Amino acid sequence: SEGRLLQAQKMEAIGRLAASVAHDFNNVLTAVDGYASLLREELTGEQRRFADDILEASSSAHDLVSRLLSLGRPCPLEVVDLDLQLLVREVQPLVAGIVRPHVDLSLELAPAAVRADRTQVQQLLLNLVTNAVDAMPAGGTLRLETGCDRARSRARLVVADTGVGMDAATRERCYEPFFTTKGEGRGTGLGLATVYGIVMGLDGTIELESEPGAGTRFTIELPAA
Ligand code: ADP
Repeated sequence: SEGRLLQAQKMEAIGRLAASVAHDFNNVLTAVDGYASLLREELTGEQRRFADDILEASSSAHDLVSRLLSLGRPCPLEVVDLDLQLLVREVQPLVAGIVRPHVDLSLELAPAAVRADRTQVQQLLLNLVTNAVDAMPAGGTLRLETGCDRARSRARLVVADTGVGMDAATRERCYEPFFTTKGEGRGTGLGLATVYGIVMGLDGTIELESEPGAGTRFTIELPAA
């Protein structure tokens, strides 16, 4: 459809923009790294740990840049047999790191075998979980479900929250690259665009149910393996 073509063109434009910025940005980071290392050698105690923090921050900035780059230039996928149920369990420690104490985690996990790239599905899951947690600043319940339909032809992943929800205008635009309501410096607007891209790449479907004040539920269905 025309909308999807537009979406693809936007993603391509992001890729080109990212590539041009990434090169210069990496040069800046190399300078930050170099000087912080030199400084670190001169310092002791707490000050030395500050230098370590700078080095660590610049290393995660390097990671961010390469993740941004991979949006435009998808890295080769390694498609394997995956069980969404096991994957949710595997990323449990990561999810626990994102989920703050005031958020309850509710799991209903059944086998859900698919063929997909592990990193992609992890990314998809973590993007949805991050959004769900962001939507519950005052606490709530994060629900993760996996399973299969009776005919075992579709595998299902549900990520649901009891958070702020979305109005019609937000529901309409939430998959658009760079669309965010999170305000300056907080959201990139790339999370759901990435999720959407991954689901489409896997020949899946994504369904969104959300109402302001009533929470949000994403249901992803993928061809079962
Ligand atoms: P970002 O998280 O950087 O804003 P996303 O593409 O992940 O970018 O999300 C786009 C927008 O969709 C968010 O800014 C928010 O308005 C809305 N959104 C996404 N997930 C949720 C959710 N679980 N609950 C409420 N709103 C959401």
